[in-house]
Amino acid sequence: TRYDVSCSFVEIGGTAGVLACFKDITEVEQAGEIRREFVANVSHELKTPLTALLGFIETLQGPAKNDAQARERFLGIMDAEANRMNRLVGDLLSLSRVEEDARMRPSESLDICEILSTVVRNLDEVAKSRGHEIVLHQPDSPVTLPADRDQLMQVFINLIENAVKYGGRDGQVTISVEPVERDQTLRKPAVRISIADTGPGIDAVHIPRLTERFYRIDSHRSREMGGTGLGLAIVKHIVARHRGRMKIESSLGQGSTFTVILPKN
Ligand code: ADP
Repeated sequence: TRYDVSCSFVEIGGTAGVLACFKDITEVEQAGEIRREFVANVSHELKTPLTALLGFIETLQGPAKNDAQARERFLGIMDAEANRMNRLVGDLLSLSRVEEDARMRPSESLDICEILSTVVRNLDEVAKSRGHEIVLHQPDSPVTLPADRDQLMQVFINLIENAVKYGGRDGQVTISVEPVERDQTLRKPAVRISIADTGPGIDAVHIPRLTERFYRIDSHRSREMGGTGLGLAIVKHIVARHRGRMKIESSLGQGSTFTVILPKN
């Protein structure tokens, strides 16, 4: 614990003394530390592609000016780096939007099955290109809950994309929707949506830290797959905003299951 201490001499009823004030500033200091770390991370993440872009621009203006083949190759790399920056800025904006007014709860009544079908349809091609099959198990009748459509789409896009990205090759991604009469933790009727992959799984030491901003198990692989390190932090905030909770179950060699539990009312 950190204290801010101030002392003053006082005289009460003819008795002189010292008045010491202790103010607990632990939380303020921790918040400052988190902010500094976040800014350092963002700067680093933006600086890496920016340095590459500047380097290639210089080469294209100088040594590779008349080399058509090199120009073509360098432009391809510059395109990828610029896209990386674009994704990062997009994710930072999403994160700040969902953090903005965390008390405001989305209230539109939406059918979770329709949202999941749309997301699965949109990601099916990418999954197939990596040899993955996406299987969706959900009830025939609509399962409605108060939600923000764009935010929930973002949650399932991030989780299903991760299952495809980190789920090895030629695997299966199984999505299940299960309404429950009462969730033990939320103490309410809820809907459980789980996304399970058949990938290499996650070592237990990493699990509690996965939703931290910029936490990655393998940075190189994440970057190679187009990751920003913010996907699960965004998911965590959106789920919290919907007064829900998230569970991550995994062990090495066993695949991973990410479950989102959202209250029905
Ligand atoms: P990223 O943009 O790096 O994918 P995320 O916040 O979405 O960032 O995920 C954080 C890290 O969690 C990833 O870099 C990856 O190491 C790990 N991860 C996420 N989903 C899975 C999964 N289904 N299987 C194995 N590892 C995963």
